[in-house]
Amino acid sequence: MSETVNTFEAQQQGRPTGPLVHGYEVIIGFETHAQLSTASKIFSRASTAFGAEPNTQACAVDLALPGTLPVMNKGAVERAIEFGLAVNSHIAERSIFARKNYFYPDLPKGYQISQFEIPVVQGGVVEFFLDTGKGADLTREKKAVRLVRAHLEEDAGKSLHEDFIGQTGIDLNRAGTPLLEIVTEPDMRSSAEAVAYAKELHKIVTWIGICDGNMQEGSFRCDANVSVRKPGQRLGTRREIKNLNSFKFMQQAIDYEVRWQIEQIEDGHAIEQATVLFNPDTGETRAMRTKEDAADYRYFPDPDLPPLCISEQWIEQVRGMMAELPRVMAERFVRDYGLPEYDATTLTQSKAMAAYFEATAKACGQPKLASNWIMGEMSRRLNVDDVAIESAPVPAAQLAALIGRIADNTISNNAARQVFDTLWSREGTDVDAIIEAKSLKQMNDTGALEKIVDDVIAANAKNVAEFKAGNEKALNALVGQIMKASKGKANPQQVNDLLRGKLG
Ligand code: ADP
Ligand code: MG
Repeated sequence: MSETVNTFEAQQQGRPTGPLVHGYEVIIGFETHAQLSTASKIFSRASTAFGAEPNTQACAVDLALPGTLPVMNKGAVERAIEFGLAVNSHIAERSIFARKNYFYPDLPKGYQISQFEIPVVQGGVVEFFLDTGKGADLTREKKAVRLVRAHLEEDAGKSLHEDFIGQTGIDLNRAGTPLLEIVTEPDMRSSAEAVAYAKELHKIVTWIGICDGNMQEGSFRCDANVSVRKPGQRLGTRREIKNLNSFKFMQQAIDYEVRWQIEQIEDGHAIEQATVLFNPDTGETRAMRTKEDAADYRYFPDPDLPPLCISEQWIEQVRGMMAELPRVMAERFVRDYGLPEYDATTLTQSKAMAAYFEATAKACGQPKLASNWIMGEMSRRLNVDDVAIESAPVPAAQLAALIGRIADNTISNNAARQVFDTLWSREGTDVDAIIEAKSLKQMNDTGALEKIVDDVIAANAKNVAEFKAGNEKALNALVGQIMKASKGKANPQQVNDLLRGKLG
């Protein structure tokens, strides 16, 4: 144990400090359980389907009844390999299953089959952008959280408290469901960074399709290890917040925990290593038990299972089956479409969004405009109406047609937003017909525009004089007048050029 801490200590040297909270640095490491999307359990043929009648899907192997033997599910191993490849980990040629011994009502067999000394996935890194501040103060930092390991293990059953008064029900359907436990280094420095990491990890496992990512059903649950220290001091004692199953609670729980730990230290109390639960109703974390050490679990290799051997050939076969990864796709967007890295990363938040972008960009030949519209107006509307991009009322072909009309100067950005609204509300589907019907065409007749410009100059002697005296803002007032007189159909850039030309 102390050896682990020393290793972390050494690894934390020279890592950037995060934002301080009342003079304390926040240190966070994550353990995430991703339920693997296999049809059957990790060591048996029982079904993993969610929502069945209690205790109808746990077979004799899941309960470890005498005379049964576990058999490794190949699909679960393949999913672990896929994950390792997605985050640049080393895939162990030979890894070992171990028994983690403890008794709990939802684990009547008395041990969980897991991996301890040699996990199947070793090392790796999860990269993402972290936005802090808003508007002009927005800063965007690239972060890299290192993974220690990801190991295969079986889930336990579930205790049910709600339907029973003064009693607890036990549902063993979940026993033996395959999990990948993904463990990070204590590399995160704020609740915001922790949430950004968890979102990125969630994106990766759902993108490669090894986990359905359903947080309500418990398919993706995070334990946050949190400690605080004064900058430059050695790592503080951590407390582990268990089973965070929403990004919102994750942030609240960590923020509460950080405040609580700082208060304790300021009051002269030492932090005791513990496992805590977050209560969303009170917004507080509460100690569940003082934390066990590895020794308490009396790990030993499971005598029922041979070592898990993975050949180079198998790894290559799995690699060949995998779809393009978000990271690789983002690099391609930068290379092939000339997008900034931030755009490329944002557009690869989901497969559906990436596909929508590519379809739009290809159809209109304006990748940067396509990116701006998808990250801007499109995302805003998706958010407001709470719809997924797959079911957006504006298909890629329509957005591409709209962008085409901006690019060839038929309409202004303002007019384009009106057309977009019409498309979105399904009041029209043909971009050109909408432009026509709403007479949104920009004024491209220079003669007519020049006349408006001359009229506005003549009628606004005061603004003209101010501009000539060096007040740039006075020009905006004139542009505004001209835009108004043209009913918004003038091209603002053209108006600017004309005005400057006429006013010297
Ligand atoms: P265990 O397996 O006993 O829970 P580990 O040493 O493997 O403990 O660490 C578990 C998690 O806790 C890891 O994600 C690690 O990064 C994180 N962690 C370890 N030390 C600290 C600390 N001082 N503060 C915050 N997180 C920590
Ligand atoms: Mg642990």
